[in-house]
Amino acid sequence: MSSSSWFSVAIVCVCVVAVAIHLVAFFANNSAKTPSAERDDLAEMASAVRFHDFELTSVALLAVTTGERTYVDQYRVVSAALDSALLDGRTLAAANDVVAPYEAIVRTNGALLAVEERSLAQSAAGDRTGAYRTLTSERYDALKSTYEDRWREIVEKLDRADAKALTQANRRSGVLIVTSVLAGSLVVLFLVGSGIGLRRSLRRQASLELELRAAATHEPLTGLANRALLSDRISLAGRRRDRRVVAMFYFDLDGFKIINDAYGHPCGDIVLTEVARRLLSCARASDTVARVGGDEFAVFVDGLAAESEVSAMARRFLVALSAPIDIGTTTVTAGASIGSVTVGPLAAFPTAEDLIRHSDLAMYAAKESDSVKWVEYDPSMEERVLRNAELTEAIVLAFARREFEVWYQPIVDLRTGELAGAEALVRWQHPERGLVSPDAFLSVVAENGRMRELTQFVLGEACRWAYSRQLAEPAAPRFVVAVNISPRELIGFEVVADIRHALEESGLAATSLTLEVTETSLFGNTADIAPTLAKLRSIGVSIAVDDFGTGFSSFSHLRQLPVDIVKIDRSFTDGLATELEDSTVVAAVARLAQTLSLAVVAEGVEERKQLVALSELGCEFAQGYLFSPPRPAVDVPSTEDIRLIVDALDVLGPVDRAPVEQYSVVVADDVESERRLLIRGLERNGRFVVTGEGEDGLDAVRLASSLNPQVVLLDIDMPELDGLSALPLILASAPATKVVILSGHVTDGLVERAHIGGALACMEKGFAEVGAQLLRILEPLPANL
Ligand code: C2E
Ligand code: CA
Ligand code: CA
Repeated sequence: MSSSSWFSVAIVCVCVVAVAIHLVAFFANNSAKTPSAERDDLAEMASAVRFHDFELTSVALLAVTTGERTYVDQYRVVSAALDSALLDGRTLAAANDVVAPYEAIVRTNGALLAVEERSLAQSAAGDRTGAYRTLTSERYDALKSTYEDRWREIVEKLDRADAKALTQANRRSGVLIVTSVLAGSLVVLFLVGSGIGLRRSLRRQASLELELRAAATHEPLTGLANRALLSDRISLAGRRRDRRVVAMFYFDLDGFKIINDAYGHPCGDIVLTEVARRLLSCARASDTVARVGGDEFAVFVDGLAAESEVSAMARRFLVALSAPIDIGTTTVTAGASIGSVTVGPLAAFPTAEDLIRHSDLAMYAAKESDSVKWVEYDPSMEERVLRNAELTEAIVLAFARREFEVWYQPIVDLRTGELAGAEALVRWQHPERGLVSPDAFLSVVAENGRMRELTQFVLGEACRWAYSRQLAEPAAPRFVVAVNISPRELIGFEVVADIRHALEESGLAATSLTLEVTETSLFGNTADIAPTLAKLRSIGVSIAVDDFGTGFSSFSHLRQLPVDIVKIDRSFTDGLATELEDSTVVAAVARLAQTLSLAVVAEGVEERKQLVALSELGCEFAQGYLFSPPRPAVDVPSTEDIRLIVDALDVLGPVDRAPVEQYSVVVADDVESERRLLIRGLERNGRFVVTGEGEDGLDAVRLASSLNPQVVLLDIDMPELDGLSALPLILASAPATKVVILSGHVTDGLVERAHIGGALACMEKGFAEVGAQLLRILEPLPANL
């Protein structure tokens, strides 16, 4: 036998001896037996009660947070069991001399039950958040600790009594104390292993199970059911024989990302928790309220009296969610788009997955709608999804077969009645379906990650086309092309590289390109896209806020963002001649734009009376079917066509376009952003055409001799050759050219030197109306005026 086997045998022998001694002691003193058995009973009861109690709390929590009937029933069963166990225990407690702590336990238990009942009542009345709060209140916690403390007191007392009983018994039998201690520990070990310990581990396992169950079925932030539990409940309802009307509501918060970005995640959490609370308060105890995504919620309503009740519920939800939410420093409003689907008692019951998907589809329809926030599911929505799948395939082919085209819609300058530029609008020439509008395919292009590719194509086409128009009509005011950019493309600088490339490749000046960014995307992601916009502006590209008025219009936002143009959404133009409110909005935007030096373009002008209203309100540009719908490049109206159309409309009156003489100007300044400001200022005035731009004096001399401009604007402080040194060279090569010296700080000395050098005048930089100021220099008023 090995040494370890010998050791095992020895242990067994000692055990046998110890148990034998114990048995002797046991029979020797019968009076010690009864209290010991009673102690065991009481100990056993204590652990059972504590287990029941833990279970009870968990079940109560589940019952009030889910409102589910089964948990409520379970709670009743367990609380009854606990009550009767506690009553039974009274005699045991008396026998073990622990009456005082035991009575404290009975009292505390009564108080705990009362709190739990109150919470259940709150939950049944629909106030689940209140119910949850009651069960997690300080008072409830305090009662729980008292309860635990008293139990611990009893158990400790029993343990001490056990030890004492053992020693007494062993002393009485006159056996060696060492053996008895050994036996005692073995007995304890045995008990721990087989009885108490097992029960304790069972208890722990049970509590873990409940915790896991709660975690597996509930969402931690709001405590609402999760998608798994929601599916379970739906399936359960589908299996019931006495089916009633059920409805599924799907919610998506509007602008939640904006709130999260603007105020931070803790505030986002407050909003989500509050939304959860409001949904719970609108739902009935038997409904399942779930959080199914970041800012997506769902309510499964099981058992409506009639299908007509669905709209009343939807209204209730809409009203509840539209109220402002206090996030501490301020209040925010997180409205929601709601989709719903109703299943009548006789209809085939869909799978949980289908029911959720249908309500989700309906929610999307609500999200896309301008006019309604709640949409009920309709099977035709399925078709759209199917079509999307087909679309994906077709779009891959479209890229390969070059089926995309760029069309253009003219933009008219209402101050002069001239064609000012055009907006590039993408089209898809589908081989079978014909012309497909961008609204039908852009989202699929984006989903397939090919937006950048499409934009590169549109940019390339648009820049080449605009440049060719400028060359074809050199006498016309400078033609600007506007390209739509989807918001996601403005995060990061890839788009800047693409634009530089398109400009370089086509030869178009950056000042002839405008990017249109929708208002919602612009103001929703300000921090993300502002650097890109700033970069684009610094190279001379203008930024237009598209669809202004449809999103979170805020004039203060306009002030902060690097934008040059505001495009008033078609919905305002529509009601312009009839709705007072629309006129007010357009007038306000036009006024604001003037103070911020922004240009205003009205979109969707279809009727003459709208044009009348616009020109009265001081809107500078207009675009719409009234002048021309979007057309393929070759069919876009020419400058002359637009003049004829405008004249025929006879709205703008005798626009003094014909006699206006435009000055050709070369601008030389080494600071790019200042050059941009100058050029934009001159062009906005309408009396100047910038024919060349340079970065230093050498550029200025070269451009003056080759272009023979009427005016050269010459910065004084430039590298290589400064303004005053370039001045005589310019006048020598282009004697008819008038030179105006620019400086950040015009002194008398500078004026004198410029005058001696042959400059017409000096102008200070940073002026507001560069065009007007230059005109005053070039066309001074007669002395007698
Ligand atoms: P948007 O930028 O607001 O473009 C104006 C839309 O209004 C165009 O629709 C145009 O055809 C239409 N429209 C113009 N005048 C009138 C009018 O008088 N009455 C009416 N009822 N409609 C008018 P379209 O071409 O279907 O484009 C729809 C949207 O697709 C555009 O809205 C724009 O957001 C987007 N889009 C178009 N091309 C591109 C593109 O190349 N890239 C990106 N990212 N988006 C594009
Ligand atoms: Ca646009
Ligand atoms: Ca627009």
